[in-house]
Amino acid sequence: MIYLKTDEEIELMRESNLLVARTLAEVARHIKPGVSTLELDKVAEKFIRDNNGVPGFLGYHGFPNTLCTSVNEQVVHGIPNKKPLKEGDVVSVDCGALLNGFYGDSAYTFCVGDVKPEIKALLEATKEALYLGIENAVEGKRLGDVGFAIQNHVESKGYSVVREMVGHGIGRNLHEAPEVPNYGRRGNGVKLKSGMVIAIEPMINLGKRNIVQENDGWTIRTADRSVSAHFEHTLAVRKGEADILSSFKFVEEVLSLQSEK
Ligand code: MG
Ligand code: MG
Repeated sequence: MIYLKTDEEIELMRESNLLVARTLAEVARHIKPGVSTLELDKVAEKFIRDNNGVPGFLGYHGFPNTLCTSVNEQVVHGIPNKKPLKEGDVVSVDCGALLNGFYGDSAYTFCVGDVKPEIKALLEATKEALYLGIENAVEGKRLGDVGFAIQNHVESKGYSVVREMVGHGIGRNLHEAPEVPNYGRRGNGVKLKSGMVIAIEPMINLGKRNIVQENDGWTIRTADRSVSAHFEHTLAVRKGEADILSSFKFVEEVLSLQSEK
């Protein structure tokens, strides 16, 4: 069952997703070599609660934290811990928040200090693929068009698409129908309608696509231990152009100030 949202509900979801966007920016301010993902988690939890939200992931199926922090070969669902991040790492920070009864969900993969050019290129391509997917998330197209756009872009650069983990509908529940794969065939799959709200979240590997789960029961990593990147937006399907409800604007303002230093 796919719930179509009213215009009023979409405005509430914009608020939830702006809170997530601003939380990711707050986290971005703290990312540097030596900081732990658990410290980042505390920053995010405080910011969400100070802004009258509730962390969306904390307690979800028993997940222990506010953020999913996935470092290097970790793909998604990494559990924050006390280990310091080091120069050259990349960390996917995935954040969910509940505000006014609706969830926001967005993720960004950050560089820690100086990162190898080949890894930066993976991050760049993954973010590009997300926006190419979003270009296809318009009324009348199908989810296969979204998946195809993502897959085509990253595979043309020699990267691979994780298959087992996918994007999703979102609303009063963090995960709703439909599933939103990051691969597909044009003209296939669920037909998109104005008012659908979905999270598109490509998980793209530098090496092979296969993944395994670590012993903590949560963390997904690449089987070949190659680096993985992950970017996510929540958006409302509309006629002609999707309405992106989350935003990287605040994160990227922080990153550009840091790069001027
Ligand atoms: Mg997410
Ligand atoms: Mg998601």
